[in-house]
Amino acid sequence: MALMITAECINCGACEPECPNNAIYNVGEEWSFVDGTTVTGQIEYHGEMVDVNAKLGALSDSVYFIVPEKCTECVGFYDEQKCVSVCPVDCCVDDPERRESKEALMARKEKLHP
Ligand code: SF4
Ligand code: SF4
Repeated sequence: MALMITAECINCGACEPECPNNAIYNVGEEWSFVDGTTVTGQIEYHGEMVDVNAKLGALSDSVYFIVPEKCTECVGFYDEQKCVSVCPVDCCVDDPERRESKEALMARKEKLHP
């Protein structure tokens, strides 16, 4: 599953630079698939093909957020989830709505970092 950040987040910013997929963004920040990855061309997002350079809307206007389509649970990089290990208030948690196999997470890693 992807990770999610809960409303308990204190917006300290410690997690953002630790993410190997650049899946974590600041409050209200636009994001794109190409940030921190080597993906090119177009990619499927919510059933549509989007340019990997496209600036997409923030997923939260109150706390830091994780883009689930970029999170691999750190699979392919580390044995631990970096955001979980650095967060001082333990608000990076498993998203119960997004259960994914290790194979699916590795496939995402390969897609984002070909
Ligand atoms: S689990 Fe890893 S890949 Fe996912 S948001 Fe946290 S640091 Fe990034
Ligand atoms: S480390 Fe935790 S508290 Fe700090 S910005 Fe990230 S999720 Fe929020």
